[in-house]
Amino acid sequence: MIDAATRLYCVFGNPVRHSKGPLIHNAAFKNKGINAVYLAFEVQDAAGAVQAVRTLDIQGASVTIPFKESIMKHLDWIDPTARAIGAVNTIVNENGILKGYNTDCQAAVAPLVPFGVSGKTVCIVGAGGAARAVAHGVAAQNGNIIITNRTEQKGKALAETVNARFIPANEMANIQADVVINTTSIGMVPKENGISFPPEALTSDMVVMDVVYTPLRTRLLDAAEQKGCTTIDGLSMFIAQATAQFELWTDMTPDTDLMRNIISGTI
Ligand code: NAP
Repeated sequence: MIDAATRLYCVFGNPVRHSKGPLIHNAAFKNKGINAVYLAFEVQDAAGAVQAVRTLDIQGASVTIPFKESIMKHLDWIDPTARAIGAVNTIVNENGILKGYNTDCQAAVAPLVPFGVSGKTVCIVGAGGAARAVAHGVAAQNGNIIITNRTEQKGKALAETVNARFIPANEMANIQADVVINTTSIGMVPKENGISFPPEALTSDMVVMDVVYTPLRTRLLDAAEQKGCTTIDGLSMFIAQATAQFELWTDMTPDTDLMRNIISGTI
């Protein structure tokens, strides 16, 4: 029941009306018996969003496109990993001190860890915000990273920060890797016919992960499945980053099966 003691959490983004955050966080609060509510706020600027956190004593917030970078300078403290990545996706209000974290990074590798990352060759397709989080997560697990990206300059810059090799997009078909991760928006609705990595370069011993989760089965994952690869969908990362946020806010671990079931029913 919402009452005068209900604590407020939210997501800041623009656009944000498609966000699945309210569905899973509110379900998790209810499931854990926590008197809190999580809302989606479509805001215009990072400074205004942070001021709202201070004014309304919002206890925690998720931060999504396009504010993950611009929000940083308005916070009181940034976790070293988030600083290295250059992006914050989580705000924790600790008695008025606003702390910024990046849970995308650990979330990106969490679904890969059971298959082993250390010493494996991991090809990351893309060099945007998601790619940066994934690359730092894989580097922390001692994976050998290959970056490939449409815009060479961006790809090379990311490769340099994580000590990776850069391979131009037109040479993707020659890439030999143990793990392939799509971090681009290729394959996401309304461009679900796109595929970010050449299917002919996929082999049955590979693990193929997509960060896109609308649709859940992207063309890349379909092609990978046909080749006999192990596949990991984008929901795995999404739920892992939300789980880490929930833990930062409440010191409790949410029911991840509950989260997955709720989202799966809406995609
Ligand atoms: P971003 O910073 O804008 O980066 C987009 C990346 O996609 C860039 O590398 C860009 O290449 C590439 N790209 C886009 N359109 C392309 C095209 N037509 N052909 C070739 N490359 C193309 O975006 P982001 O924040 O990294 O997000 C990327 C995707 O990850 C989105 O779909 C987002 O929903 C998803 N995501 C999922 C999770 C999760 O938890 N599952 C978390 C974060 C993000 P250029 O450098 O050449 O422009």
